[in-house]
Amino acid sequence: MKTSAYKKILETELAEITHSLEELGVQNPNAPEDWITTPEEPSKNESDPNDFGDRSEAWQERRGTLSALETRCNNIKRALSKIDAGTYGTCELCKNEIEEDRLSVNPAARTCKADLDNESQLPS
Ligand SMILES: [Zn+2]
Repeated sequence: MKTSAYKKILETELAEITHSLEELGVQNPNAPEDWITTPEEPSKNESDPNDFGDRSEAWQERRGTLSALETRCNNIKRALSKIDAGTYGTCELCKNEIEEDRLSVNPAARTCKADLDNESQLPS
C-alpha cells in the first residue's frame, strides 16, 4: 500500500482542522485530544436579554462543530500513527484490508466498507 500519498493528505487535513479547532476552542492543557469550546467574540449587545437565546444557540452550534472536528482530528492522528506503525489500511473491526476507494474518500477511515456502520462504536 502506498501510504506516503495518504500521509500527505492526512497531514494537510490535520493542519486545516487544527486551525479550525483553534478558532472555536482551546486545547485542554490536561488532555491534548480534548478541546474546550470558547465563546464567540463578545457581542456589543451584551446587556440585551433578547440576545441571549441567539447566543446560546450559536454556542450549541459551535460546540457541535467543535465536537465533530475533534473526532475527525483524533481519527487523523490515529491514522498517521498507524502509518508510522505499519498497520495503516487495516480495518479495526475485522482486521481485513480497507478498500482503496474507501481510503481515497476518507484516508482516516478506521473500518472497511462492510463495517462502516459500526465505526462509531469503536472506542475513541
Ligand atoms: Zn472490517
